[in-house]
Amino acid sequence: MLLCALLGLTGCAAAEEEVSVVATFYPVYILAENVLKDVPGVTLSSMTPPSTGCLHDYQLLTSDMRALGKAKALLINGAGMESFLPDVTGQFPALVVVDCSQGVELIAEEGGHGEWNAHIWLDPQNAVRMVENLRDGLSALLPESDALIQSNAAAYIERLMQLDAELSAAIEALPGKDIVTFHEAFPYFARAYGLHVCAVVTTEPDEPISPRMLGSVIRQIRDAGNPPLFSEPQYENSALSTIAAETGAPVYELDPLVTGDGSLTAYEDVMRKNLAVLETALGE
Ligand SMILES: [Zn+2]
Repeated sequence: MLLCALLGLTGCAAAEEEVSVVATFYPVYILAENVLKDVPGVTLSSMTPPSTGCLHDYQLLTSDMRALGKAKALLINGAGMESFLPDVTGQFPALVVVDCSQGVELIAEEGGHGEWNAHIWLDPQNAVRMVENLRDGLSALLPESDALIQSNAAAYIERLMQLDAELSAAIEALPGKDIVTFHEAFPYFARAYGLHVCAVVTTEPDEPISPRMLGSVIRQIRDAGNPPLFSEPQYENSALSTIAAETGAPVYELDPLVTGDGSLTAYEDVMRKNLAVLETALGE
């Protein structure tokens, strides 16, 4: 500031170093932007664009490493979603890592090798836990903005709890409880609201589905009495069309909240849209 005064520069405050905080992907970004709303001196960005979706087998790009090199903190989902994390912390040992999954009760990956299912954000109560972790991590990083971070987090948590109560009451009233999902994204959501995931079409959403896998899924769906199938807007659903044709099960769309418009209310908006879909699909 002294230098600014001496040189008579204008706009010097804006040129002061902004703290760069990077979220690994979309859901973490949405939660973090609510916690950091109107907090001065900090720039939040997402390492991957929203078109990326889930980070299954994500390979770091040179541009990611460049962005992380300038960042003070990295906000991760955790629970194994960021399999590239050791490369990042190896390269940037001073980078503060905030793990949103701390304290979340994890579900083991179906057919996995001692790994956890990483789609924790789809249970709003987990989202609350994630917001608390972000609040604590960001408040430690930006102590001068602690009061605003605390009040932002409290207001957001209240909205998330209200959403949770709404989903809970509405889904409990639905006669149907069985669903078939495209990839392994909804076990936390199902556990939260008493739904039963009868089958998952694929555990490798970015790869083509083998005929053997397809046959086995079709058998599982028939055994379960052809419950509704849920495609995801992020993935091609030609396999689902085949399954629907084979079983006669209807197809709807559930959004795992990994892409979107980035608005502050994106989490609640998508969850309410998913609820409306479930009410149609399971409401008799
Ligand atoms: Zn996923």
